[in-house]
Amino acid sequence: MSTIAQHLQDVNARMQAAAEQAGRPLHHIKLLAVSKTKPAEDVKTAYAAGQRWFGENYVQEAVDKITSLKQHCPDAVWHLIGPLQSNKTRLVAEHFDWVQTVDRLKIAQRLNDQRSAHMSPLNLCLQVNVSGEASKSGLAPADAETLADEIAHLPNLCLRGLMAIPEATDNSETLRAQLLELKHLFDRMQKKHSTMDTLSMGMSNDLELAVACGSTLVRVGTAIFGSRNP
Ligand SMILES: *Cc1c(COP(=O)(O)O)cnc(C)c1O
Repeated sequence: MSTIAQHLQDVNARMQAAAEQAGRPLHHIKLLAVSKTKPAEDVKTAYAAGQRWFGENYVQEAVDKITSLKQHCPDAVWHLIGPLQSNKTRLVAEHFDWVQTVDRLKIAQRLNDQRSAHMSPLNLCLQVNVSGEASKSGLAPADAETLADEIAHLPNLCLRGLMAIPEATDNSETLRAQLLELKHLFDRMQKKHSTMDTLSMGMSNDLELAVACGSTLVRVGTAIFGSRNP
């Protein structure tokens, strides 16, 4: 078995243990394999081991990978999880299945205009800044509902949920508070927006806590593909 396949098994086992601990069904929690900076070969290996959802941060790097893997990995589902500038929206609208980092209407409108009506709607998550750190992108929690209402009218987009990158902290209570804030916002918004089924939080180091706090999608890079060169 390849190292990547072994790592995928380990991560799935961690997710299963966390789901059991939280009393949640495992099928409510999906795994996004974050392949940023890693070669297309690594994606192929993960795909051969059964992984289908992949996350990328850098648009051009991702488009090159997506294009080169079309034949080998026809059922791969690609998520953009890195910041999105307006001059890159067309490439994203043409190549990705999901964008998890939408935090303003202008970007959503461009994605909507540039998504072909012949393709399935582009799935979106709003990125919420739960830590309040000035350096972090994402909407203030108080602004998420307004943006969701505006996006709900755009026909080539489908609002699927919320995403957050909490503070990098060793304090698990601080982290828990931020994850739970996102969970409560998600529960409230879901009542109004029936297409919202995705709460994207949790990474290699904190996926257990994220699952305990209600995550439906954990984004795991290092624990699957190994550490990244800076
Ligand atoms: C890189 C990245 C991840 C994966 O982080 P790991 O610690 O390697 O699991 C998850 N989410 C986002 C937004 C990232 O940029």
